[in-house]
Amino acid sequence: MSEKMKAAVITDERKVEILEIEKPVPREGEILVKIKACALCTWEQRTFLKITKMPLPFLGGHEMAGVIESVGEGVDEEEFPIGQRVAVRSFNSCGRCYYCRQGKENLCINAHKPQPGPRREIGGPGGLGQYLVVKPQDIFKLPNDLPFEYGAFTEPLACVVNSMEQAQVKLGNDVVIIGAGIMGLLHVMVSKLRGARVIVSEPDPVRREKAKEAGADITINPLEENFVEKIKSLTEGRGADVIFNTTAIAKIAEEAVQGLGKTGRVIMYSSIHPDEPISVSPNWIHNTQVVITGAVSPPVEAFHTSSILLSKGLVVPDKLISAKFPLEEAQKAFEEAIKPDTYRIVVMNE
Ligand SMILES: [Zn+2]
Ligand SMILES: [Zn+2]
Repeated sequence: MSEKMKAAVITDERKVEILEIEKPVPREGEILVKIKACALCTWEQRTFLKITKMPLPFLGGHEMAGVIESVGEGVDEEEFPIGQRVAVRSFNSCGRCYYCRQGKENLCINAHKPQPGPRREIGGPGGLGQYLVVKPQDIFKLPNDLPFEYGAFTEPLACVVNSMEQAQVKLGNDVVIIGAGIMGLLHVMVSKLRGARVIVSEPDPVRREKAKEAGADITINPLEENFVEKIKSLTEGRGADVIFNTTAIAKIAEEAVQGLGKTGRVIMYSSIHPDEPISVSPNWIHNTQVVITGAVSPPVEAFHTSSILLSKGLVVPDKLISAKFPLEEAQKAFEEAIKPDTYRIVVMNE
């Protein structure tokens, strides 16, 4: 008789059910993690709203932390002790393609192909179930006194670490962050760690206040001031050294490019919906040596760095958590998460 576990499964539009599914058993070389906290990312929220069309039923949850519950044969229990707090990387990079072997696992060409992964009747990354079987290389140890809800930020913070790597922020740089949602605020915190002057553009006054609390030096309201002119006036007419666009709007992506000074770098952090082309002067790129790039998912190195930032308390995400719900109340958690004024909602498993 196999054991059962609970899982919060999206079964229909705006519908999450707590289902009893098979509890996984770690095979040779595998580790069973008991998930203790799982944050609801935009991707899960869009799946819940059926904007992102994932096959249903769907077991989401990729921003997760938990404890080692048991290990399969051949796994060293001294290296992976039972009860050890861990973050789990659920991104399916193959480890053998061109990009994986260049250390760019986030760009893996096989990531979206079916992999010999979790043996489970319901698809999805699985952080919203009580247990998950993982490979040792996908586990990142956390201190045993770090709250699990902080550990659940390892994945989103890792995305921001990757974004920072693309931006190459230097001491004293003028860094502009467009949008003060959760990802915008994480960009504020890490940019401050990198010694930048941080300017946040955000129309919502409550979010602008949050940005200040997170460490922003200057906030601007793009509905009241012309974004590009304001950035230039704050930088002696030059434009910013780095601009992160954390919004999904093509028009804003275009403005982000226009706000750059010479040799500036703009990072398209968010996916853009709808994906409309933007207009950029190639001759201006030629004359200014600006760099236009993006950041998508974290490679292993960024995930590791993120776990270190959280472990050492260099990034403390307490102000980014709007509410916590027990797994049984996952429906409520999703309904709360999709409200535009909430930051992260975390689902907790006793
Ligand atoms: Zn995420
Ligand atoms: Zn690969």
